[in-house]
Amino acid sequence: MYKARLAEKGSLEVIAYQDKSLTCRDCGAEFLFSAGEQEFYASKGLMNEPSRCPTCRATRKAERMSGGEREMHEVTCAECGGVARVPFLPRNDKPVYCSSCFEQVRAARV
Ligand SMILES: [Zn+2]
Ligand SMILES: [Zn+2]
Repeated sequence: MYKARLAEKGSLEVIAYQDKSLTCRDCGAEFLFSAGEQEFYASKGLMNEPSRCPTCRATRKAERMSGGEREMHEVTCAECGGVARVPFLPRNDKPVYCSSCFEQVRAARV
């Protein structure tokens, strides 16, 4: 038993890493898990393969850094002049309203 384990351990150490392609669970894109990365993962004691492509990993990391919120832009409400926070960058030729004014403007249009 002990000998078998030893043999297993020995064989683990001579694993030759090969580039392999994995599928990202977020966007479904194929990405390369290179031999170098596999070695890096192994050296960190990480047994799991990455489940996301580098792009999605970077996106998720950025989301975590910003508290998981979308980037918000502070704008001046075209109606009341108050500060409004919107999840998009408004174009200069379009009036932007705070949430309460937006409701009124939308109601007035109908
Ligand atoms: Zn992806
Ligand atoms: Zn307003």
